[in-house]
Amino acid sequence: MIAKIRLIAPALAFALLASFSAAGAETGAAARTDHCGPDALGVSRTIAIGGSPHIGLKTYPQTLDLKDHEVVLTFDDGPAATTPRVLDALAAQCAKATFFLIGRNAAGLPSLVRREIAEGHTVGSHSNSHPNLPNLPLEKALADIDAGVAAVDKAAGGKDSKFFRFPGFVDSPALLAALDKKGMPVFGADLWASDWNVMTPQEELDLLMGRLRRSGGGIVLLHDIHKQTADMIPALLAALKAEGFHLVHIVPGDSAPALRQAPAGWTSETEAITQKMGVKGPRRREKAAPPPKAAAPEGQTQKGDAPVQEPKGSPAPTI
Ligand SMILES: [Zn+2]
Repeated sequence: MIAKIRLIAPALAFALLASFSAAGAETGAAARTDHCGPDALGVSRTIAIGGSPHIGLKTYPQTLDLKDHEVVLTFDDGPAATTPRVLDALAAQCAKATFFLIGRNAAGLPSLVRREIAEGHTVGSHSNSHPNLPNLPLEKALADIDAGVAAVDKAAGGKDSKFFRFPGFVDSPALLAALDKKGMPVFGADLWASDWNVMTPQEELDLLMGRLRRSGGGIVLLHDIHKQTADMIPALLAALKAEGFHLVHIVPGDSAPALRQAPAGWTSETEAITQKMGVKGPRRREKAAPPPKAAAPEGQTQKGDAPVQEPKGSPAPTI
């Protein structure tokens, strides 16, 4: 590069160098990805999300309009002592994720919240104390949501993220309406690693990659508070790269994103789980698609993910 520049007119060479410098200054995040090289997973594209969409097929009848083999990584319930290893693994692959933080955890470990932001990740809130929100009186539930948002914002040094995920994906019409009014996008997930169940990192990797191969990608729920998940992340990122998956980063934006409707016959999987857990509150799902009239052709089944089989007697999943 230097030899070529020496051959051209000095003025043009100066202009080229100036433009390189400007580009580097404007795209610091991109510049930081350079050290990873072509073997790293990196980020293939970024989607800005505004408005108040309800996203994620485990709970809602629509999700982000991702392309085949695109994956969004999300981590819940942190920050925790295991979070730095997750951040280290993401940094090593120049990968970006979204962390849905519990407010009281953010207040306890604010430096990790700031690290997540400094390293280009997105932070959202996941309530202040992780209750089953619909079981609380509406005022108390809203107060817990507001306290969680405030705690994350304070830990983040005033950065305002509107992204929200309900603890256990347990919402209610009244709470959803309140979040809509606040202009907060609500995230469920399209698939998960069931990492609330104890398993080895290899078992968790095999489970998640199997689900990703069947679904062809989607918004993935993980928990950075679990050691087995932190242990698995380096191998997960390598496997995603090796199998041709592309990472999509989601960030707060000004307008609603393109959404893809659930396939015919869709039902809320999380609602069935939380009803078994005895969560109270009125339930309803908007725009449930009618059942399919005919089975999907071979190889085009739209079920995507296997139903979650929680072992008998195991504690309720902490989602
Ligand atoms: Zn949670």
